[in-house]
Amino acid sequence: RFFCPTLSDGTTVTLTDEEFHHLAHVLRGKPGQQVELFDGQGRSVDAVVEKLNKRDAQLSLIGPHRQDSGARVSLVLGVACPKGDRLKWLVEKATELGVAEFVPLQCERSVVEPRETKLAKLEQTVLSACKQCRRNSLMRIGEPQALSDFLKKGPSWIAHPGGDPAGALVSSMSGTGSEFLTVRAAIGPEGGFTDAEVQEAVDRGGRLVSLGKNVLRVETAAVAFAALAAAAAGD
Ligand code: SAM
Repeated sequence: RFFCPTLSDGTTVTLTDEEFHHLAHVLRGKPGQQVELFDGQGRSVDAVVEKLNKRDAQLSLIGPHRQDSGARVSLVLGVACPKGDRLKWLVEKATELGVAEFVPLQCERSVVEPRETKLAKLEQTVLSACKQCRRNSLMRIGEPQALSDFLKKGPSWIAHPGGDPAGALVSSMSGTGSEFLTVRAAIGPEGGFTDAEVQEAVDRGGRLVSLGKNVLRVETAAVAFAALAAAAAGD
């Protein structure tokens, strides 16, 4: 599977840069080989490799373009980012689980402030995960946001040890029939949310939700929440 953001209605496409490198050098693709292209916005199409040049590859599109119907539940997951490889792992899993947007949160007890370069690298992680899990729309990586700003954008589920059982969360997502729904959720830092942050979230209409009796690491809690949402949505 190759990423081609400019999938047009034409009959040929050219792969360059990273995608060309992946096809020609990593996978040692050959003319005649059939591949799948996706545009990161839900569109995909089958194609066949026609010609491999020094710096690009020409492919012919075969068959019709397919357009994903779009997820019924769109999850915006705000997370006080863990360090290093744990963040990369989390972004990979969130992509696999269909999270629509990942927002790095700045909380009072945050220990990591992801820099722009690091966030740009995470886009590559999203792309690789999309290829592997056959997802055709890229997970957006949002700008880092203060928790307050995240909460202002709409009522959120706040993952918090000792919060309400997750049943209410699950039924709020599964009981909406075919209606499209945006769900916002916040996962706190290793030190947890402060009392003031929890109070602000509740004052803004947020609900505290428990993910079980054990205290989970940030990335485990984020993945558990995304899995609950994916299962409840049934997309
Ligand atoms: N001592 C901290 C506390 O009591 O909040 C633990 C923080 S935990 C390592 C990091 C974050 O993961 C929490 O802020 C929360 O968002 C989420 N989390 C961890 N375990 C959870 C659980 N059992 N239920 C709900 N959220 C949880």
